[in-house]
Amino acid sequence: MIPVRGLEGRKVAVLGLGRSGLATARALQAGGAEPLLWDDSPEARGRAEEQGFALTDMTRDRAFEGVSLLVTSPGIPHLFPAPHPVIARAMAAGVPVDNDIGLFFRSFATAQWDKFDQAPRVVCVTGSNGKSTTTALIHHILLECGRPTQMAGNIGRGVLDLDPARDGEVVVLELSSYQTDLARALTPDVAVFTNLSPDHLDRHGGMGGYFAAKRRLFAEGGPDRAVIGVDEPEGRYLAGQLASAPEDDRVIRISSGQKLDGFGWSVFARKGFLSEWRKGRQMASIDLRPMQGLPGAHNHQNACAAYAAARTLGLAPKQIEAALASFAGLPHRSQLVGEKGGVRFVNDSKATNVDSAAKALQAFPKIRWIAGGLGKDGGIAALQPFLGSVVKAYLIGHSARDFALQIGATPHEICETMDRAVTRAAAEALPGEVVLLAPAAASFDQYPNFEKRGEDFTARVKALL
Ligand code: ADP
Repeated sequence: MIPVRGLEGRKVAVLGLGRSGLATARALQAGGAEPLLWDDSPEARGRAEEQGFALTDMTRDRAFEGVSLLVTSPGIPHLFPAPHPVIARAMAAGVPVDNDIGLFFRSFATAQWDKFDQAPRVVCVTGSNGKSTTTALIHHILLECGRPTQMAGNIGRGVLDLDPARDGEVVVLELSSYQTDLARALTPDVAVFTNLSPDHLDRHGGMGGYFAAKRRLFAEGGPDRAVIGVDEPEGRYLAGQLASAPEDDRVIRISSGQKLDGFGWSVFARKGFLSEWRKGRQMASIDLRPMQGLPGAHNHQNACAAYAAARTLGLAPKQIEAALASFAGLPHRSQLVGEKGGVRFVNDSKATNVDSAAKALQAFPKIRWIAGGLGKDGGIAALQPFLGSVVKAYLIGHSARDFALQIGATPHEICETMDRAVTRAAAEALPGEVVLLAPAAASFDQYPNFEKRGEDFTARVKALL
């Protein structure tokens, strides 16, 4: 645990008692603050009480009297579409609002670091897609290269649950836009921006607010190195804004598809090969095609981002190449579940938005596509250019009929449930085809989360194999 510093003896309200909220409460207590815990959900409050915490109703009048800070969970809106009533109350009372990421950055470095040979470093990864894969990949590379490392953030463990840093350790954090939007301190040593496409727009008041939230990771703390995906205008703008000259190698530009062989520092993937260029010279080339855990151009983009971050930490191209080859991939992201009669079954349940689904549809040539769930604003019309690889769609969930209208001429069938979709797709698939779950929709209409949806797909496929 990382005890929270600088709030000794202060009352700190904690709104949202999920995993990160309870970790925050413990870390506040360990640092000598007095946490006041609240959650709208009686179940969450019950769980907190079971763990020995007292509750304070933060919805009552004058609840914020004497409170120094409010710490909230990422799922709770603080501005758009409207601030949660408790957050609105804190803001009206002039109480600052922060999150566990902000507390982490103000508490992580300790006097003990003076005795270390090499100061610990923090690498943060943000972007619309590929955050988890890139974060896990950087962590994997560091482990394979024998460097002390821990991973946390939007992936798995809450940041305040991390162990205090060891000599030379590298902490790798995945940060969502909700987290970067609110954190009052954001001081990574290396910051990575994978890509940008519309997502969560309701929470950010539109695309401008969404980009601004991600941009804070680079603008607030001024990382020593910034690894930036330049395949969208926002990334190009950000890279241009951070670099003082074309050859400024504090910025490493990455791309999937573009040749970036100018005078700066760049890492790009084209036709399955990763290249690193610096000062107009090629430094390294890696064949990504045999790497089982990194299929498709989108994963090659993630490989570029992770490679670049690893290079900033002093690792050699050959070491990184070996580690890329041994990466197994993450569950629910282009995950090969099994193969039968020449048909592959791939679980990409994490493809909850149009951009990630588009990437999955481009990663395979002939697809029996299982899609649908709780559709997002804007629908799936933007997938039209990528439907050429779809032999037939098997549509499930709340948006099934809506998706059917939007994909028009592509052969499709309304299946409603995962069970029926898997059965139908498996029965019709021919050798060489891929049965792909890439829903382009959230899972909450039929499942608690995308993991459970992916597990359901996997279990039904395994039963068939
Ligand atoms: P995030 O943590 O940003 O949601 P993940 O690594 O969990 O990213 O991947 C989310 C979804 O996006 C998965 O469906 C995955 O296959 C797809 N994906 C992964 N990397 C990329 C990328 N670089 N660009 C677009 N889609 C991607």
